[in-house]
Order: sequence, then structure tokens, then C-alpha cells
Amino acid sequence: MNAFSRRGACPALSAPMQTGDGLLVRLNPVAGAFSPKLLIGLAESALRHGNGIMEVTARGSLQIRGLTADSAALLAAEVDALGIAVRTGVPIETGPLAGIDPQEVADPRPLAERVRVAVDEAGLTPRLGPKVSVVVDGGGQLTMDAVTADVRLKAVRADNGIVWSVSVAGDGQNAKVLATVDADAARDIAVAALRMVAEKGREAHARDLSERQLVSLAGWLCLTGLREASGRTEGGASRKPIGPFPLAGDTFTLGIALPYGSMPADKIIDLAQSAVTLGTTEIRLAPGRALLFLGQPTDTNQPLQTIAATLGFVTSAADPRTRIAACPGTPACASGRIATRDIAETIATENADILDFTLHISGCAKGCAHPGPAALTIVGGENGAGLVVNATAKALPAGYRPGYDAARGFSRVAALIRSARFQGETAAACLTRLGPAAIADTYRQAQTKKRK
Ligand code: SF4
Repeated sequence: MNAFSRRGACPALSAPMQTGDGLLVRLNPVAGAFSPKLLIGLAESALRHGNGIMEVTARGSLQIRGLTADSAALLAAEVDALGIAVRTGVPIETGPLAGIDPQEVADPRPLAERVRVAVDEAGLTPRLGPKVSVVVDGGGQLTMDAVTADVRLKAVRADNGIVWSVSVAGDGQNAKVLATVDADAARDIAVAALRMVAEKGREAHARDLSERQLVSLAGWLCLTGLREASGRTEGGASRKPIGPFPLAGDTFTLGIALPYGSMPADKIIDLAQSAVTLGTTEIRLAPGRALLFLGQPTDTNQPLQTIAATLGFVTSAADPRTRIAACPGTPACASGRIATRDIAETIATENADILDFTLHISGCAKGCAHPGPAALTIVGGENGAGLVVNATAKALPAGYRPGYDAARGFSRVAALIRSARFQGETAAACLTRLGPAAIADTYRQAQTKKRK
């Protein structure tokens, strides 16, 4: 625990978090977007006061790293001077295209605002931990399905209009569905769930609620005499926020991602300056480690994409780097045991053809870049680079190699997949069929041969 905040808390400007490479600040603009000039101003501040690296997280927050106590204060003053109001309190998150997506089921912003007001009125903000969050998802082209939350409200169509599916403790796939109700009831159940979480203490999350409490939340409808609605969930898996997305009136927004969620601030400045020249008026942060560019004429999207690709940004959803989650690792993070980003770049270059699954490369067992399980995880530890199969970075690796040699071990696994997979079989399915023992054996093998 440091003078600023405990590890794992959400570090807003006033409470930066200690990491292996100094203090880290995480911020979300209240407006949900920056003008390109404001983003340039912020990136210049990051260059002046941080280590020159900026990040967009999987949840769509902006992070500035490598700060000291003094420089964090200077950064906060400059953010203030730029007039950027940052979000505080319980995060009530809507999708990056909320209110402007012609394909959304409902604009989630009015309900999000009502939940925000109700949470404030109930005095819950100081009683809830900093990572407790609510998602209000209007559906559409960029859903919030991949974002984990304590309470989720998702718009669905019903015969009598729009209703909201209320679920808790998870992402769009694994959260527990409690009810499908109108907006008023959705707000009330959300606040009731948060109140139960608050009663368990500031370390608690909705996943800590008992089965009895969940039943009582779902049954709350009956107590209040409300009728549960039935709705139809729409659409398949949400797209990655990369590439053009149609908006109203034949316009498009263009999604451009940061490789592994991270980019030098000067490259962000270069891209934002090019965007200004091409007519961009607004840049939004998007879950999935991306920036959405809005306002530029449609025929400038291609030149903007070309500039971004030249600068090293991810401009195609098929880019193999989108399949790899890699934390800063060494040398950026003091806890890191392996050079995660170098390993990731080598693997993305050499083995793009088999990367149809999530590969997590973690500097240590903390697993910052991908807290959930991944098909394969290369994790740094005192025995070198461990390989974990179908689990999180915290699990016991099935095999080890020296850290500098991890990409070569992965290439052995990639070669095994190429030779063993059946026609039409995905690499992910092939991995499952091969099983952890064969995969770990292959990963270790190259090392054995090298020793001969
Ligand atoms: S997982 Fe990566 S970023 Fe997180 S503490 Fe370990 S090395 Fe540092």
C-alpha cells in the first residue's frame, strides 16, 4: 500500500496507483470523448510528466504511466487547465457509440443517468469499492458484452417495446440473469443489488452475493407488484472496435486500436494531428483498447487508416496482435520477469496463421492484461517463461522455458498445430483436442534439443 492508493484500486487523477514503472493514472472523460486537440494536449502532458507511454484499457479507459508524486500532481493540474472533466464515483458505463449508433436497440444514456442519480441519492458511492461498476448496454454494433460488471442492464426488444435484461457479476456471456423488466424496475434492481454489495463492505463485488440474495433480487419484482417482461436478445458476438462503423446519414466512425493497448504518446499526437487535418472532430475511447474517430468525411477514412498503420496502430480486426493480450512486462514493470511485448511481436509476426485463440503473455502471475482464462498463457516466473493451458496467469504452468526463448517454444506449439489439425479445424479446437500434456511437452522440447 502506498501513500496514494491501494494496489488494484481504480486510480483516478487524485489517487494514482503505484505500479512497477512508477505511478499510473487512469481517467475517463465525463463527456465520453475528446476533441483531437484535447487528446493532443493530454498526450503532451503524458510526454512531459510520464514515461511517454499512453494506454487504452480493455474497458476503454485512458492510462498514463511512469509518473512520480510530483509529476502526477502537475499532470492533474494540466488536465484541469485543459478543461477535461474526468469521471468520478461508481462507473456507470455505456457503449462507445451510445446514442449515435443507428443499429442500437435503445439509447442507454438516459437510463445510465437515472442509475447514476439513484446511486448518489442512496449514498452508495463511498460505501462501494473502486472497481464496482454498472454497464448499461443499448446493444448495436459495439456492445459491452466483453466488459465485466457487477450489474448489467441490456436493452432487448419485446412485443410491447424496449425492456432491460438485468444480470449480475460477469460479462455478457456469463453474468447471472435476474429479470427482464422496464427501465424503472431495472434501475431499482440495480440500486438494490449495489446496496447489498455495499452492505458486504468495500472489498465486495456482486459475485459475493449469496444465492438467497440473488433470488430475493429477482423476486423483488413480485414484492413490488411489477410484471416481468419477456424480450428478445439480438445480434451475434460484438465486433472488435476496429475499422469503419456506419452512423446516421451515410457517415462512418473509424476504429483504430493500440497494439496491446499501448502506444508512445508522440505517435498518438501524430495520429491526432493527422486526424485534425482530415476533419476529425471527436475521438472516443472504446472498450477493446481502441480509439474511435468521428466527424471526418467518409473518403478520408482510408488515408487515416493508412497513416495509423504506418505509425504502428492496429487498423484491421484480422491483425494477429488483437489476439494477444500482453502487459508491459520487463523492463517497464518492476514485477515483470519476461519481455512480454517483444515476445508478442515475434509471435504475431511468425505465427499469425494459427492465432485464432487468445494468447496471453504476462510478465508475472498477476495477469494484469487478461485476468480471465486464456487458451494459452506464457507467464514470467522464477523458473522462466511458464506455459499455462486453458487457465489464468495465476495457474501452475504445465512447462517452462527460459524467458528469452519463449517465442521459440510457442513456435514449436504452432508447428504442432499446423501438422496435427484436421481440415477445417480451428487452432483453438486443435489445442483442446491435443490437451495440456502434449502442448506443454512440445513447448519444452526445443529447449531439450538445444541442450544436446
Ligand atoms: S502482470 Fe505484467 S504489468 Fe502486471 S504486475 Fe505483472 S509484469 Fe507488471
